[in-house]
Amino acid sequence: MKLDTKSRIAKRMRGIRGEAAFEMLGRANELERQGRNIIHLEIGEPDFDTPEAIVRAGINWLQKGATHYSPVPGIWELRTEIAQRLSSRHPQKIDPRCVLITPGAKMMIFAIIQSVVDPGDEVICPDPSYPAYEAAIRMAGATPVQVRLEESKEFRFDLNELSRRITSRTKMIVLNSPQNPTGGVLNLDDLRKIADLARKHDLLILSDEIYSEIYYGNPPASILDVPDVLDRVFVVNGFSKIYAMTGWRLGYGVVPADTFSSVELFLNNSVSSTATFTQRAALEAFTPETEKATQNMVAEFRKRRDVFADGLNGISGVHCLKPLGAFYLFPNISRLGLPSEEFANRLLNDAGVAVLPGTAFGDYGEGYLRLSFANSLTNIETALERIRNFVSGV
Ligand code: PLP
Repeated sequence: MKLDTKSRIAKRMRGIRGEAAFEMLGRANELERQGRNIIHLEIGEPDFDTPEAIVRAGINWLQKGATHYSPVPGIWELRTEIAQRLSSRHPQKIDPRCVLITPGAKMMIFAIIQSVVDPGDEVICPDPSYPAYEAAIRMAGATPVQVRLEESKEFRFDLNELSRRITSRTKMIVLNSPQNPTGGVLNLDDLRKIADLARKHDLLILSDEIYSEIYYGNPPASILDVPDVLDRVFVVNGFSKIYAMTGWRLGYGVVPADTFSSVELFLNNSVSSTATFTQRAALEAFTPETEKATQNMVAEFRKRRDVFADGLNGISGVHCLKPLGAFYLFPNISRLGLPSEEFANRLLNDAGVAVLPGTAFGDYGEGYLRLSFANSLTNIETALERIRNFVSGV
């Protein structure tokens, strides 16, 4: 007798949600196929091209035969380059032997969580946050424990609340700063206190710093700026956002020395390794020419952030903090009286603007929307006009 679909699917997959951005993109594309004009503010990727030097290097390395397997943790040259760069920016000496390269930062998050989190463990996550944390935690058989990011604290944690959520089953705290979806940034004092809690309760920390170089004030603090935590910290970063390389699939992590072989084993048994020519091309990311390209991109993001946030704040019932990092706005729309999901659906269908409901990032995202400003100023102006008209009819 044939199993019904529910029985065929592994129990660990039940209740797992994916990134809503991809689903919303599919719906927006479908409307475009029907002839509608849609402004895309749903997907989290720079609208800039990958810097030319990286593209050129990728083509050259393909022609030079960098088309074979790479070592599981990545090519030594890139691991060394990453370790040197991090060591030069933070008061910690990063050992290249603790660096691993993965096909995208998301794979690094997954590999770390599957390697160190057991069924029955609890893992503390910000809410709202990037949905891949919760999915990876649930697939490991563990329980995500949400701690709210407070708008009144510019979307940082209430550290007392964080502390109250720690139990004897807590294994790890997940941090993300600058943050998706809120654009909030944890300061050094927050990170020091979180590290103190981790030491006190013997917890691991996963710090996702993929937006570390996209910021609009002082450079954001990193967990690597906190002394004496390297033995319990996993840092995740990558090339997708800052070098506009989302489709290249290139991320990396720094892991505690005693966990390296487990994370490596996980990668060995899942992806084997990351493409070789992309890793070679990424060596071009750390040159002055590429730095300049990324600085120009961030300067452009800043202009768009200001126009967009100011425009939204001019709409009655909408309140939008100016994000300190990343390229998302997270406006509060709770005074308009529509649940976030209904608002996002109607905004797409009635007004042709694709955004994500805050609830795609957790229950505490109710009352908010996530809008990417990785889009042209012209499109942002049009989106503002459409949102203004839509809100006046709500
Ligand atoms: N971490 C955060 C917070 C993100 O927002 C994203 C992508 O949106 C990722 C990780 C994944 O990056 P990648 O595309 O390199 O897998």
